[in-house]
Amino acid sequence: MKIICIGRNYSEHAKELGNEAPKEPLFFLKPDSAILPKRVPFYIPEFTKDLHFEVELLVKINRVGKHIEERFANTYYDKIGLGIDFTARDIQQECKTKGLPWEKAKAFDGSAVIGKEFIDKSEFESVQNIQFSLNKNGEQVQLGNSNDMIFSIDRIVSYVSQFFTLKIGDIIYTGTPAGVGPVKIGDWLEGFIGEKQLISLAIK
Ligand code: MG
Repeated sequence: MKIICIGRNYSEHAKELGNEAPKEPLFFLKPDSAILPKRVPFYIPEFTKDLHFEVELLVKINRVGKHIEERFANTYYDKIGLGIDFTARDIQQECKTKGLPWEKAKAFDGSAVIGKEFIDKSEFESVQNIQFSLNKNGEQVQLGNSNDMIFSIDRIVSYVSQFFTLKIGDIIYTGTPAGVGPVKIGDWLEGFIGEKQLISLAIK
């Protein structure tokens, strides 16, 4: 399986990092080795001094598809999850400045946190109205709603499938809302869709 991550999909987040809102979806990949195994803490890697959380809604692909039309995109996924796209912000900044790829900053082991379960999309009134949030040490640091996405889930699925064949089990990270920030050893992150807790993660 592959992990596709959308960047700058919420204008307030693009702004907080000094980026312009994109005209078309921006994406990058993480390998399957980036997935943090379940029920283990996250160990901050030694190569970064500025490790940031980014809470994001996830979409799990359930059909093989290529060149998917946007109006049919909703038939290629049936589950929504929650994840954290851990980012070595200092390394990402260096890569951006030099015009280099981001993988070192984004695709390292453990950088893809996936919540404990996926929720059937039929449980939501609309996938474009899902509230999600992240707490750090018991205090809310990020609050987002999929209705604030610059590019909708269906648009993302359609767009990405022009370049990559989507396969069963692929996961799309759909971008983070404003409020990203650093973690340090001893922090504790909790992620929610609505009131439902899907992530509880100790930082070591
Ligand atoms: Mg992200």
